[in-house]
Amino acid sequence: MPTKFDNIVNEAPSRVAVIGAAKSGIAAAKYFRSRGSGVFISDACSRERLDEILRENGLIDGGIESEAGGHSDKILECELIILSPGVRSDIDALKSAASKSIPIWSEMELGFRVSKAPFLAVTGSSGKSTTVSLLASAMAGAGYETVLAGNIGTPIISVTPRLSKDAVVVAEVSSFQLEAIEAFKPKVAAVINLMKNHLDRYESEEDYYNAKKRIAENLTASEYLVLNADDSRLSQWALEFQSQTKIVTFRACDNGGGDCVYLSGSGINYRFNGASGVILDDVNKMKITGKHNHINACAAAAVALAAGVGPRRIGDGLCAFAGLPHRLEHVGDLDGISFYNDSKSTTAESIECAVCAFDSKVHLIAGGKDKGCDFSVIAGSIRKNVKSIILIGEAKDRMSAEWVGLAPIRKTVTLADAVNAAFENAAEGEKVVFSPGCSSFDMFRNFEHRGEMFREAVDHLASRRAC
Ligand code: ADP
Repeated sequence: MPTKFDNIVNEAPSRVAVIGAAKSGIAAAKYFRSRGSGVFISDACSRERLDEILRENGLIDGGIESEAGGHSDKILECELIILSPGVRSDIDALKSAASKSIPIWSEMELGFRVSKAPFLAVTGSSGKSTTVSLLASAMAGAGYETVLAGNIGTPIISVTPRLSKDAVVVAEVSSFQLEAIEAFKPKVAAVINLMKNHLDRYESEEDYYNAKKRIAENLTASEYLVLNADDSRLSQWALEFQSQTKIVTFRACDNGGGDCVYLSGSGINYRFNGASGVILDDVNKMKITGKHNHINACAAAAVALAAGVGPRRIGDGLCAFAGLPHRLEHVGDLDGISFYNDSKSTTAESIECAVCAFDSKVHLIAGGKDKGCDFSVIAGSIRKNVKSIILIGEAKDRMSAEWVGLAPIRKTVTLADAVNAAFENAAEGEKVVFSPGCSSFDMFRNFEHRGEMFREAVDHLASRRAC
């Protein structure tokens, strides 16, 4: 069905409202200004802060209008609305816009519409950034001009206008971005897992999953949908979508059936388009560790296979990827003890992934701002894989109560003291893993700052020992 601005590349709206002046909103505003459209930026922050953002981005003059402190009906004076992922899609001004049939697009939708290059799009609750990075490594290794963008950091619209049809966009997609799509149709779409999340934004768990499901709504028999066959909801989706599009699954072990990428012994195997074989003979050749990352590699491999890359090339690409900062990142060794920074971990399940990633037992540093997670659900893995626990932050008393008796527990005030305590507990050949399982805002600016502070504490310990 034709929609307004189907040909956005040739037909720029006269006036566009950009709701939310964060990274993607600013990139959209710059794009439309370069196209000659009038741009109206609306943000909930203070006037002073908004002016600062506009100034920093060279948008303070040049015909850009703006409003601060909330989103008014002024957005209704525009022909098109670009909605940032940080703004709820059910605010009154947007409801009025919808009733007037003003198109509301996420910046993902805009970037897609402008792109000649096909999209390989990945969503899910955990492991998105790792999976898209593995996938980008496989695509680049196979010789494609590859752009990695979206929720991982680079706005899509800041990269797609310059791409040719022979390039490929590897897009990390969030549920918020999927709330405002219309024509978004990746060549391959993947949903890697579904876990309870973002209940501050969605009325129910189901609403969150349904937002993710929209990644597949425009797929046809020419595209592929990659789904995790070990996730019961996603297996259900495979049945639901099999008459609409081509399905490839991935999973922890083979179970027969259709096209699939799976772990087999220590390797990754595939069955695809009537062929079968090995993608990677040994996952230990990869630079990232942990079963969760081996599953992420299967997901990335399934997308790359569906995009037409040969199995051997994919295996090489998976091995070339060096890992992302703050995700089980090896930050140093001291007296034969290895230190890992997993500051991105903000849930109990993430702690479980981290402590299960190593052969030997670990000394776990955890804690932070209490998000209300149930830490008792991972008690079995803590008992099995953790030798000592050091707790910091607001959540430390509750975590200690939920884990009492599983391993010796110590509480410290600072992260540096926690690092020292874990080092005292550890013996040669053992690991110290910082996997907070909580958000960072009680003691740090964000998870990146927290991870840097951990690295600094390890460096400081090493330099003290050297003196
Ligand atoms: P996202 O971009 O979805 O936040 P990341 O790749 O940044 O995901 O990983 C964040 C954290 O999620 C990791 O530190 C790890 O604890 C956890 N994680 C990664 N992959 C998986 C997976 N396949 N299943 C469950 N948890 C995972």
